[in-house]
Formats: sequence, C-alpha cells, structure tokens
Amino acid sequence: MKAHVLQVSSVKQIQTHNQGALKKQEVVLADTTNWIKLDLWQKYVNTLTKGTTYTLENLRQKKFNNERYLNTAKVEEFKFEESENFSDSLVQPDQPLYQETTLPDCQVIGVTEATKTLCCVSCSKKCIFRPDSSLVQCTSNSCKLMQKVELCKSQWYLRIMVKDNAPPEKKFMLTLFHSQVQQLIDRMYLELDLASSTEEKVLIAILSSKKMISVTFDPLSHNVSSVASMPEKPSKEL
Ligand SMILES: [Zn+2]
Repeated sequence: MKAHVLQVSSVKQIQTHNQGALKKQEVVLADTTNWIKLDLWQKYVNTLTKGTTYTLENLRQKKFNNERYLNTAKVEEFKFEESENFSDSLVQPDQPLYQETTLPDCQVIGVTEATKTLCCVSCSKKCIFRPDSSLVQCTSNSCKLMQKVELCKSQWYLRIMVKDNAPPEKKFMLTLFHSQVQQLIDRMYLELDLASSTEEKVLIAILSSKKMISVTFDPLSHNVSSVASMPEKPSKEL
C-alpha cells in the first residue's frame, strides 16, 4: 500500500503478559480516500517520518473495539520505501494522536509527598509498625502476619515539582510510582538504596542534587512514564 505519514506518537513501553516490556509507537497514515492508525512494534519504532509518503509492505489489518488498525507482522519483515507524495489532498483523521509530553532539560525543585509503603512478605498488602515495636504487621484482616521490617519490600510514591529550563520557564507537578522513583534515583546518580532508605533521606538526596534530568509524562494525569539523564554539559573553558 502507498500512504502518507500524518502523525507520529512518542514511543511507549507496553508491559505484555508473554513477552515482557515491548516498545510501541502509533502512527497515522492517510491516502486520498481514507486514514488509519498503524502500530509499530519493537525494532520498527522510529522508522517512519512524519510528512513522508511511503510504499508499505507486510502489514496486518486488525480490529479492536470496532476500530480498524494496522500492525507490523510477527514473522514477515515490515518493508517500507519512500515514495512520491500524493498529488490530491489527503483525508484528515478526526482527532490527533495522544502524545506524551517530554521536558528534555528540567530540575526537581520541590517535593510535596514522599511515601514509602512496606509490603507484606506473604500477601503484598500494606504493613504498619506495631506499637512500641520494631516489628511490622500486615494490615490485611485475612493475613495479619507479623514480620521483620528488613524483609518487607517497599513501594515508593513521589509527588515532585520540576522546573523546565527551556524558556519560557514553566513548573509542573508530577507523580511518580515505584519504578519511576527508582528511575529518578538512578538517573540523578543518587547513591541511595530505596529499600532501606527513609522518606527524609530520599527527600534530602533529591533536593540537594542539582542534576538536570529529562522527564516524560502523561499531560492529563501528570504521571511520569520515564526519566532520563542529561548528558554532562562541557565545563566552561577559562
Ligand atoms: Zn499479609
């Protein structure tokens, strides 16, 4: 088929049951009579460029919630080659693709909430400290297991304020769940073990650092999906 690429979304990590985390990117294709979404998977993400016309081969047509879309096939190799633009006008989709927002150069300037939840070794529900004790107990009524705090897994939750360094200077309040909190700690190169650290220790480490980071988040929920390190800026020559 011949089609023009109208829109390209950011690459998402999709957690799948059988194959673990997979990369996926949505693209909107159009010709002079129709438009359709195409899901690019794994090695095919970032292969198509917005505003380019291609001939495309080995795509499968699927249906989900009564919506038709195209998918790269599992076995046959997806082939694409640049082609001449259509001379007639193209069909436009009714709505733009959902896009995540990336702040490529920002800094954490505040934290409104840092919560560490201890999870039961047996049922993973929340544990709390027993009165006047160093032991914790599961809050699930069907479990109530008493246990050593060192053996509990911890789940972190953070609400941070970041400042975008690109003008115009903007501030965003963002939410991070456990795996993104771990990513933030790693990408800011903080020497912290989340399992044994207290909330205060994590707060101080994050706010004492001047490391710049790049964050990608959902513009509606403000949930962070990924955190990346900034390349070191060359130091000013004297
Ligand atoms: Zn339990």
